[in-house]
This record gives sequence, C-alpha cells and structure tokens, in this order.
Amino acid sequence: MSSIAENIQQIRETLPANTALIAVSKTKPIEAIDEAYRAGHRDFGENRTLEMAAKQPQLLSDIHWHFIGHLQTNKVKQIAPFVHLIHSVDGERLLVEINEQGKKNNRIIDCLLQFYIAQEETKTGFSMEEAENMLQGERFLQLKNIRLCGVMGMATFTDNQAQVRQEFQNLKQHFDALKEKYFSHQPTFKEISMGMTDDYLIAIEEGSTMVRIGSAIFGERITSTKN
Ligand SMILES: *Cc1c(COP(=O)(O)O)cnc(C)c1O
Repeated sequence: MSSIAENIQQIRETLPANTALIAVSKTKPIEAIDEAYRAGHRDFGENRTLEMAAKQPQLLSDIHWHFIGHLQTNKVKQIAPFVHLIHSVDGERLLVEINEQGKKNNRIIDCLLQFYIAQEETKTGFSMEEAENMLQGERFLQLKNIRLCGVMGMATFTDNQAQVRQEFQNLKQHFDALKEKYFSHQPTFKEISMGMTDDYLIAIEEGSTMVRIGSAIFGERITSTKN
C-alpha cells in the first residue's frame, strides 16, 4: 500500500496547475493529517463541525480548514473563528448565520453556494432560481461578513459517467451564469468545487478548480459519512 504522501503526489500529477486539492480527512486521525502536512499539504476538508473543531487546535495554524458537509445553522459558531472556506452553503438562512458569526469573530468568511445537481434526494443545495432570488434580495446586500467565492456540487453516486459529466457541466453553467450576472467585477468569485475520488478526473475536464478527495489519499473510511 502506498503512503499518504505518495498518494497526494500521484493525484497532484493528474491535476492542472490551477486546480486545488482538498484532502478530505473526515473520520481520519490527527496522525494521518500530520503525515499529509509533513508532505507539504495544507488544505483539509471535514464534514462535521465537532470533529473539525476538535482537530483544529491540535495542528498548526497554517492549515486551511474547508467545511464540506451539511451545515446546521446552530453549529456555525463552532467553526466560524477559523474556517477557511465553507463549501456547503445550501440556503439563505445559513448564509445569514455565517455572516452573524463572521461579525462576532471580526472576520469575513469565504463561502461557496452548493447546488443541487444530482438525481439523489439525500443531497442538498440551491436551485438556480433559489440562488438568484437570494442574490437579488435586499437581505443579501447587507451581508458584509461573508464573501461568495463560487459554487460547489456533488454528482450522483453512479457508474454512469455520462450522467456524472452532465451534472458537472450543469454546475459549470450555473457558475458561468452567476459570474456574468452578479460577480463579473469580483475576481474572487472563481471557484468550482467539484470532484471526489471516483469522479474527479471527469470534474477537472469539466472545469473544476477544487477537487475534494478523501479515500484516494487516506484509504477507505470505515464508517460511511456520506451526506
Ligand atoms: C467525503 C466527501 C468527499 C470525499 O469523498 P471520497 O470519495 O473519499 O474522495 C468529498 N466531498 C464531500 C462533500 C464529502 O462528504
């Protein structure tokens, strides 16, 4: 079996230069994260607030912590002081709460809008219509402690590669449309977070700027923590 450092190196070689690799360390121990850290890796993804908040103080502060799981409004405060990017903003109420916690912590919290692109009821996210309603609303303009940096989505868990590709294309289209209509003067609105262990090669072909990879780096997870 290859080491964590070797896995990261191998995946890096398949990524375009401008594509970020988020190492998804959920359920994995501090030692595993530390091994990746010593290999030079700094971006890690977690999908549980308590787990992320417990790991963060045990590691060095130059790690970028990415929150990628379903986020409940009452749990935002656990990660607000340090989170680098929240990928999984799936509603306006959540964004308002992230803004509140950003204010309390005297910082601007970077966020992505999660879109519902899969044929699976278990996955969450905005529709294009919901996102536009929010972006055109009064309340959104008042959110000074969040910054939207792009979009995120999860494709259907299926062997049908054509379907996965189509879903990623849909997400890219959502990104392009939002960029043109609402963020054309914001160079920081640039991220398309899509692609996991099984589908990241398709995702980068379809324009991903951030892939979120767990099992191909750290090995299979024992418990299922899929959202
Ligand atoms: C777990 C998870 C990943 C990583 O999954 P792998 O298949 O292990 O690469 C990526 N994104 C989200 C949102 C996840 O929950």
